[in-house]
Amino acid sequence: MRWSKFFAYTLKEAPKDAVVASHKYLIRGGYIKQVAAGIYNFLPLGKMVLDNIRAIIKEEMDKAGAQEVMLSFVTPYELWEETGRAKKYGDELLRIEDRKKQKFVLSPTNEESVVDLVRGVVKSYKQLPINLYQINLKFRDEARPRFGLLRGREFIMKDAYSFHATRDDLDREFNLMEETYKKIFERMGLKFRVVEADSGAIGGSGSKEFMVLADTGEDDIVVCSECDYAANVEVATRKHVQKENPIKTEEIEEVYTPNKKSIEEVCEFLGIDPYFSVKAVAKKAVYENGKEEIVVFFVRGVDSLEETKAKNAIGALDLMDVSEEELEKVGLVPGFIGPFGLPSNIKYVIDDDLRMAQELVCGANKKDYHIKGANLLDANLLGNLTIYRDIAAVKEGDLCPKCGKPLKITKGIEVGHIFKLGTVYSEPMNATFLDENGKAKPFIMGCYGIGVSRLIASAVEQNHDEKGIIWPKEIAPFKVDIIVGDVKKEEQLAFAEVLYEKLTNAGVKTILDDRNERFGPKIADFELVGFPVCVIVGKKLKDGKVEVRDRKTGEKFEVDKDVVFEKVMELVNR
Ligand code: ATP
Ligand code: MG
Repeated sequence: MRWSKFFAYTLKEAPKDAVVASHKYLIRGGYIKQVAAGIYNFLPLGKMVLDNIRAIIKEEMDKAGAQEVMLSFVTPYELWEETGRAKKYGDELLRIEDRKKQKFVLSPTNEESVVDLVRGVVKSYKQLPINLYQINLKFRDEARPRFGLLRGREFIMKDAYSFHATRDDLDREFNLMEETYKKIFERMGLKFRVVEADSGAIGGSGSKEFMVLADTGEDDIVVCSECDYAANVEVATRKHVQKENPIKTEEIEEVYTPNKKSIEEVCEFLGIDPYFSVKAVAKKAVYENGKEEIVVFFVRGVDSLEETKAKNAIGALDLMDVSEEELEKVGLVPGFIGPFGLPSNIKYVIDDDLRMAQELVCGANKKDYHIKGANLLDANLLGNLTIYRDIAAVKEGDLCPKCGKPLKITKGIEVGHIFKLGTVYSEPMNATFLDENGKAKPFIMGCYGIGVSRLIASAVEQNHDEKGIIWPKEIAPFKVDIIVGDVKKEEQLAFAEVLYEKLTNAGVKTILDDRNERFGPKIADFELVGFPVCVIVGKKLKDGKVEVRDRKTGEKFEVDKDVVFEKVMELVNR
């Protein structure tokens, strides 16, 4: 490609709402252009990176025996009614109507479509297993699209769906997909972790996420400092340790704590370690059937509530914040809520870590009062509706559930998610096959997603500096940028053309920067756009020298013009 003819432009300024590196550089580098919130055009450079990623994914999925299909982007709403997701999916599902008033959705995911494709066609266990995948558009009307390609509304996903006759066979495919995903992300040159993940409302027996490690990630992941334990904070657990309170109280006593509402205030006022205090977090739970209620969650004062765990503990779809007025309306005393003597109509959940805990300070459910010396040994005190669940967020320094060593928290970007679905879609959609005994059974399914467009941005988050992108070689749009110092100097242009032909013929994707521009902007573009290697054909050519630069290491080599091809090949392949 000759840059003078290439539809690529770079910008000095990033848009104001661009706060993360990938968003800024992908726009400034001429990879993407925003069309509307969370919707982007891909320019030639962006399309090239996308195609490179797509090719790696396709190669590895095909090798694993999956078959590529392309499901329609516009899907009948009826299918979504069959599984009940028409209601459950909420506002992220974009519903549309055609001229005949028939309802459709823009696919945010394709379980329904693929079950519909397979049912009635695959009839016998002999036709199983099958794994069908596509690399296609998705639309989710995200509440807060942000960070460019990291959280779009329209985005590209690789989604695969597998069908099995037995659970064992699903397990085999799930493991195969995990290995396949590892190969894909390794080939892309990314640093990532596979973590245990939440299976959410779908339930299911297994789910793993693939997290690209980056400070800008929206997910907190818990990793062990010693062993291979890694989990999304949404499901992470910790080893239980029970510290003993050195302060012993003879009897439970109510203490006057005027205006001391927060854990810090109360503990400081009473001179106690917050570990021995109970924090109350009240939320409004929203359930699938539309019911809403206020639920109180109790965790140790040093812990915080993990909302996904909390949601799963009570089977809620969502947890929302509540105002003081709403709390008062149901008889709760904001700032002084405790597990003893709660209004009887209030559902509450106590964190597992507090099971059997003693010598605690908690709210007295009475304005300006706390209870001291409370213990949770005697559940009768609380009433028999008490439920204990693991609802606290694992924090830095907690101990690994596997080996007992300290845990660390890092940030990750979710680029892949694999899931054992079981029969949650096949059953309601009546998609069955005949087993060995001629009995009709619902398909046992798995699903496997990769955020293809999110991967572009994730690669940039992990590989950039203050000047721009530093593409991993496997996915770079061009591997080599030949900069002609002065295109009016015929010998420079001629030399660059010959090198360009030679590299291109050797299969190295090369761009020839033959624009009639000064050297400064050309080198700045090389750094911003992020090609792995550049060759500068400039003034020194008359002494038989050209310069070769490595974008990643910053190394500069002055090489003899006769060996420049070899030098470039060495850098490209190392
Ligand atoms: P998230 O938790 O980030 O919202 P999700 O759990 O809803 O993602 P899945 O339904 O598992 O996502 O979709 C599979 C993959 O698609 C994700 O692992 C992610 O890489 C990608 N993805 C999901 N939502 C978006 C989005 N809004 N923009 C870009 N990629 C996305
Ligand atoms: Mg997910």
